[in-house]
Amino acid sequence: MTKVVALISSGRYRQEQYEDVANLLRGHNTATNDTHKLLLQSLTLDFADLFAADNPPNCNICRAPKEETALCFGAVLGAASKSPGKHDFAGGFDREQFLAACGLDSEN
Ligand SMILES: [Zn+2]
Repeated sequence: MTKVVALISSGRYRQEQYEDVANLLRGHNTATNDTHKLLLQSLTLDFADLFAADNPPNCNICRAPKEETALCFGAVLGAASKSPGKHDFAGGFDREQFLAACGLDSEN
């Protein structure tokens, strides 16, 4: 079974839920009918969007969410930063791993 990694989860959904949904969707990934395939693909992408919105990457320095546009206070306080004043976003829901776990290629 492919692991779906979420380093930081502050949202509604947890690692176990990502894996359960991925396993359910993967179980239906045997369709030979094009309509069924498209529907399954669309549903999988919707789940990926839902989980990604719920658990975005956070700044490694100040924990701000990815949408944060203000300067990183960690840099102001002199904390180590790759580029001063800029957030260092990482973690969150891993969309590519989720799609792979569902049996979809990342380009879908
Ligand atoms: Zn920051």
